[in-house]
Amino acid sequence: MNIETESKPWVSSSKKESVVLETLDGLEFQKVCGRIFEKLQYGRVEVCPYTGDMGRDLLIQTNAGLIVVECKHQPNSSIGRPVVQKLHSAAISSRAIRGILITTGKFSVQAIEHAKSLAPPIELIDRNILTDLATQAGMELILEGKKHTVLTYPVSSNDKLQDRINRSINSRFKSYPEIASKLLRIKNRGFAMYPSYVIQYDVNATFETSVGVIHRENAENRIILIDGNEGKLLKEEIAKHIKSASLTVYDESTYKDSNLKKVSFRIDDNTLKTLSMKYISNFHTKNKTYWGKNNQKYTKLCVPNERHIFISNTKQVYVPFQQIELQAFKIKYDITAIENSENLLCYTKMFNCSVCGGYIKDTKTLCNSCGAIVHNKAILDSHSFECKICGKTLCRKCTYDLGFNKKVCKECALKNGKDLKPLSVEMNQHTILGILFIIGGSIGVLMNFLLLTFVFIIVGIGIMLSNQKSQAPPYEFI
Ligand SMILES: [Zn+2]
Ligand SMILES: [Zn+2]
Ligand SMILES: [Zn+2]
Repeated sequence: MNIETESKPWVSSSKKESVVLETLDGLEFQKVCGRIFEKLQYGRVEVCPYTGDMGRDLLIQTNAGLIVVECKHQPNSSIGRPVVQKLHSAAISSRAIRGILITTGKFSVQAIEHAKSLAPPIELIDRNILTDLATQAGMELILEGKKHTVLTYPVSSNDKLQDRINRSINSRFKSYPEIASKLLRIKNRGFAMYPSYVIQYDVNATFETSVGVIHRENAENRIILIDGNEGKLLKEEIAKHIKSASLTVYDESTYKDSNLKKVSFRIDDNTLKTLSMKYISNFHTKNKTYWGKNNQKYTKLCVPNERHIFISNTKQVYVPFQQIELQAFKIKYDITAIENSENLLCYTKMFNCSVCGGYIKDTKTLCNSCGAIVHNKAILDSHSFECKICGKTLCRKCTYDLGFNKKVCKECALKNGKDLKPLSVEMNQHTILGILFIIGGSIGVLMNFLLLTFVFIIVGIGIMLSNQKSQAPPYEFI
């Protein structure tokens, strides 16, 4: 049985390409500028490797000749006269017809004045002109400082998501005759938008006592996520998971055909600042022990404060928590997942065995009769079987015993003319064998085989304890 997924337009971003400048590094910014010139059909654009600073980041071959371009992604600074001079020299030595200097910041008055007098000419493009050019090229540039642009992480289309899940689950399941990805299909999908602030920061703290430096706490480009509604700290695994994911502008129409829940942003800037400092400080607080001059051991709590913490970036982001419902036959599995470009961070109970309820660490068996996920075959009290006749993988509840330990599926049992009851879910082989060993050991006492008795009783207890269930981890990657 193959449950069809409805195709809904869960496209990864709006049709118009939008670029959030603050999320780009120098080379990425160069490439974006190159793309703008390409779309405006200036000529053939070549992006130069981002090494050293030769005063030329892009080369544009036009019909009239070469244009050299220098790109400065420095939103908070003003470009001075020396940068203009440098590009001018580069233009001369490259025999260019023109130079173009781009900045996401501003130009100083001296730079503007100087550029006016040059030949070959140097054209200055500041953030406003750049935004206009981008618009003409059909792109939307989101500049830093344009506050309250809510961003989000892109999500895959339904088909692509199913592909990603398939790739990951087939290797984790024993499933016959159908492979796991044939049976486990996305049945429903919804989105819960979690209002969050992504806080990027550096920490640079040195802790000293009379004996000298006892601890240095250094961190660069770390991020934490703060819930924008209640101000709680989001789990560390989420921050790690989405750190490398690309951002796009949040556009509600992307989700217009799907079940969307959205919580609003509520905390104000001051609260956010205070909370960020508090969380970052807590996160980097360490207890250090050291030896004092009098040869005594001391402990000092090293707490970074506002002087040690530099918040380099704050982004307002809707983190999409996807509610995915997978279905195999009539059994449904719920997954709450967050995507990045590699995999899905998942909170789910689907890997708990449907026979014993315990977590299944390694390969799982997928019952091809009912869709249950169960522990692999075991010697005692097995939670799964393979049909002795057709080979179908079965959970215990779908297994029938033809006698002489011949375990089969329902269809094969019926073909054999037998209408039996499926195996009981009550299991006692562990207990029986354990008790047998303990009784055996006790008999040993009577016969004075003390060492053997000891071994028997330990093995007996071991067998009984080996039946214990393992606990599910807090999250999984699919
Ligand atoms: Zn089990
Ligand atoms: Zn089953
Ligand atoms: Zn069978």
